[in-house]
Amino acid sequence: MPRSQDEILADARSARRALREALLEWFDRNQRELPWRETKDPYAIWVSEVMLQQTQVDRVIPYYARFLDTFPTVKALASADLTDVLSVWRGLGYYSRARNLHAAASELVLKFKGRLPETVEELRTLPGFGRYTAGAVASIAFGIEAPLVDGNVARVLSRLFEIDGAPSDKAREATLWSVAELLVAGSRPGDFNQALMELGATVCTPANPSCLLCPVRKPCRALAHGRVDELPPPRKAPPRKRLELAVALSHRDGNVLLARRAEKGLFGGLWEMPALPLEPGANPYAALRKLFGKRATIGPEMLVLERTLTHRDLVLRLFPVALPPRLKLPPEQYLEWKWVPRDETKQLGMSSAMESALDEVLPPEATRVKAR
Ligand code: SF4
Repeated sequence: MPRSQDEILADARSARRALREALLEWFDRNQRELPWRETKDPYAIWVSEVMLQQTQVDRVIPYYARFLDTFPTVKALASADLTDVLSVWRGLGYYSRARNLHAAASELVLKFKGRLPETVEELRTLPGFGRYTAGAVASIAFGIEAPLVDGNVARVLSRLFEIDGAPSDKAREATLWSVAELLVAGSRPGDFNQALMELGATVCTPANPSCLLCPVRKPCRALAHGRVDELPPPRKAPPRKRLELAVALSHRDGNVLLARRAEKGLFGGLWEMPALPLEPGANPYAALRKLFGKRATIGPEMLVLERTLTHRDLVLRLFPVALPPRLKLPPEQYLEWKWVPRDETKQLGMSSAMESALDEVLPPEATRVKAR
């Protein structure tokens, strides 16, 4: 029988003091040295928190350094072209995060003199600031007693207080946030939130948690009741989608035709070789003809590249397309298109799948030789 929220909160209240002390002490001794823990700059902390969403720490570290080298302040980010921001983000995935960072930086300059506001309510008015990001920035950068719940925190709290329910369960989520709010009240809220996340990342891991080394094993109800392996229940993976694209490789005189997608949706704002989605069994030649009209000459398929993204399987089918040099207006899904010198394509923000496909069919060296 699942425990009620009242029971859980009563437990959390009575365990609160000892749990906070044990966790903060453990964090002081065991926290990993990470670049964003060496700064007090709210902007840098914000960037790190956005990058860490759905992404492993090791993968984030080089991107974090490069991003701050390129855009060292809110103002620098706000005045940059979105294309340049996406280019620095290239390979980190979930590009909407980069678009939101850029949009929020512009709002910060317009409304907050280029500074991050210090309340959760104001932070939440900014693009990309959900409850988690606002809680993380408020607590870590400004020392506000703001709770946060991410996957790691949810797992730790579910086990500590035997909170049942599937990861998508709204009642479970509300209980988790209430427990997190109750526990974070006190000194060092930013460290406390980070300690919970760190415990989830390094000790209270999804499989084989190191309960023997855990600083809070004493009050842990899941450990006491032999339920560590069943809490939390695994998230049901959403059915995978397949996205197949007919992609046009057009190049002439060392230049490649690239188009920039409209800013919303998958790969929004990124540059790519012009492409159209294909329904199962659809004719790619007909799709490309729709994109370019009768003036195009389309050659035989030259590459099929498959990529596994987080929630979908991407298939790029490349065809050479010969076009007249003068371009008409771009198709409606694109903001612009242009001939780009092959040597300069890497400076644009392209998705890594498109970039790999281009590298494979038209390595930069090949065009250099031809252009001479
Ligand atoms: S005792 Fe085990 S299950 Fe409980 S919080 Fe610690 S690591 Fe997680």
